[in-house]
Amino acid sequence: TAFDSISRDINIADEWKGKPAILANISSAADARRALASAAEGVGLFRSEALYLGSDHAPSEAEQYQVYAEIAGLMKNRPVVIRTMDLGADKQPGWLPVRQEENPALGVRGIRMSLRHPELFRTQLCALLRASCEGDIRIMLPMITSSSEILRARKLLADAEEELKQRQMPYRMPPLGIMIETPAAALLSDRLAPKVDFFSIGTNDLMQYTAAKDRQNPDVWEEEAGTDASQQSDEEDAVLELIRMTICHAHDCQIPVGICGEMAGDPRFVEKFLHMGVDSLSMAPYRIAGGRKIRAEYYTKFMEAGGKM
Ligand code: PEP
Ligand code: MG
Repeated sequence: TAFDSISRDINIADEWKGKPAILANISSAADARRALASAAEGVGLFRSEALYLGSDHAPSEAEQYQVYAEIAGLMKNRPVVIRTMDLGADKQPGWLPVRQEENPALGVRGIRMSLRHPELFRTQLCALLRASCEGDIRIMLPMITSSSEILRARKLLADAEEELKQRQMPYRMPPLGIMIETPAAALLSDRLAPKVDFFSIGTNDLMQYTAAKDRQNPDVWEEEAGTDASQQSDEEDAVLELIRMTICHAHDCQIPVGICGEMAGDPRFVEKFLHMGVDSLSMAPYRIAGGRKIRAEYYTKFMEAGGKM
């Protein structure tokens, strides 16, 4: 199954072989420890921009290598998906000169920022290639909207590899995946899937861009807030359609697909995602116990139904 590639060397109980992994969203090595204590089966999203935001300078290759290698070491052979710097919009480090934008959420952010600062991006890619010798690291690109962004990122990855060869540094080329967090990426997921090794659906931004509602502005979400917690809003239904489509396209291409936004750990949706055939769910550490419980209940029901639901 598609899950085999993501569970490669993880030592999980046999009963979970071939079933979706419950992974953790983290922003630091301390979070990785919390994730392990919560029985996470790996890291589905390391928000590496935390390294850039928590520093008064651009983090060097050595500084980044140390953090990535530490997390990979802590996680042993469990997967560690490291998202490349998702800067821009509400995440602007003081040391990075940026032009004021009218619509930052629609401006230079995520992969767009990385491609505009190739030297900064290459430093991160070199650190990631080197740290990949220490564990099962996978690289993930944020805010993708087109195939050309993947091709340009791949070119910079090849440049980083060439540089490490020249420097005679040990490295490994990890799998490369993308976030599906814009409606364009979800709608083009059949075209993007053959170009990458995995997808991870970011429901926070996918919801923001699908509903055209600022994720940070509580006023625009007010109307939905009063609904019964067990119900779904029409906007959530719209996002679920995009998720369903993305999972189908990923599996048509035999690549694994996870979900890593807030919805992935929301008890209203976990069973739905399992039913859609998702390969992993990545959530905040405090959600992991709940996610594992729903997964266990779902598979008990599944077996009682004779393996058909
Ligand atoms: C998302 O957009 O769903 C996501 C996981 O990324 P972030 O919340 O860091 O934007
Ligand atoms: Mg996002």
